[in-house]
Amino acid sequence: MILPVYNEEENIPILYRELCEALAPTKWSHEIIFVDDGSSDRSWEILSDIQQRDERVVAIRFRRNFGQTAALSAGFDHASGDVVVTLDADLQNDPRDIPLLVTKLKEGYDLVNGWRFDRKDPFLSRRLPSMIANWIISTTTNVKLHDYGCTLKAFRREIAANLRLYGEMHRFIPAIASGLGAAITEIRVNHRERRFGKSKYGISRTIRVVLDLITVKFFLSYSTRPIQMFGLLGVVSGGIGFVMALWMTIQRQLYGMGLANRPLLLLAILLMFTGLQFVSLGLIAELQSRTYHESQNKPIYVIRKTLQGNHLKRE
Ligand code: UDP
Ligand code: MG
Repeated sequence: MILPVYNEEENIPILYRELCEALAPTKWSHEIIFVDDGSSDRSWEILSDIQQRDERVVAIRFRRNFGQTAALSAGFDHASGDVVVTLDADLQNDPRDIPLLVTKLKEGYDLVNGWRFDRKDPFLSRRLPSMIANWIISTTTNVKLHDYGCTLKAFRREIAANLRLYGEMHRFIPAIASGLGAAITEIRVNHRERRFGKSKYGISRTIRVVLDLITVKFFLSYSTRPIQMFGLLGVVSGGIGFVMALWMTIQRQLYGMGLANRPLLLLAILLMFTGLQFVSLGLIAELQSRTYHESQNKPIYVIRKTLQGNHLKRE
């Protein structure tokens, strides 16, 4: 269990009790990792107090506020179980859904995403942008889910450990996981109103989400062959520019038409230049991509398992 915590002092004790209640009947051995993301209220005191009394609890404290994505990442790095579950620490996710998610995961999935089908958040500022975002994310990344923003998720550890998260990317975890070849599904989960504390996000994150989406899409589709994207853009734009320039050259040379009063000339030059730039950018990106993979021995593929001789290796 991983829980990102940022100024949730009133919520933690209730949450902790609910977690214990939800997990007790399952008999699964587990640890509860709280990541305090630089809270300025009493969250840390409360967490360390709980940690003193319960050895299943791990409490991690950041030096400052690094954001929810970083908090989840720290949790993934510390998790040691076969199954990793993430949920919000603001009581909006219901710990009683955890056994359902894990049971679903055991049916043979690598990631089970929660779907807050009856979401208790303001419509205009939260649900509407999120509906649009969900639609855009699912069409661009080809991972069909209803609710990317839901933190309540269950993973197999191989998947959680291999996610590399930056920026505000926790909402793209399913898309990134699908890039690792994960089998993904979703189930409906309970969602509750926030009772204490306030939401840490507003409408302003929409633009950031769009920018992150571009990065994720690029990484999923082109990170090992950037020249194919930039090169294509470059060839198309340069080609159009070249044809226009050629056309004007013919007109000038054969028919003696003047060039001075033709704005098209500027456009042609601009297109040829951008074309050149795109191709060069693509080449630089190719170099970068090689540095990226080779400097950290990061292969361009992900193996599920290898059968060899009599041994069964699982990765
Ligand atoms: N959170 C965090 N760091 C941040 C912002 C939020 O760890 O910089 C945590 C927060 O404590 C909560 C979860 O992330 O447990 C989700 O935050 P919030 O409830 O504000 O988001 P919402 O549910 O409104 O999308
Ligand atoms: Mg919340």
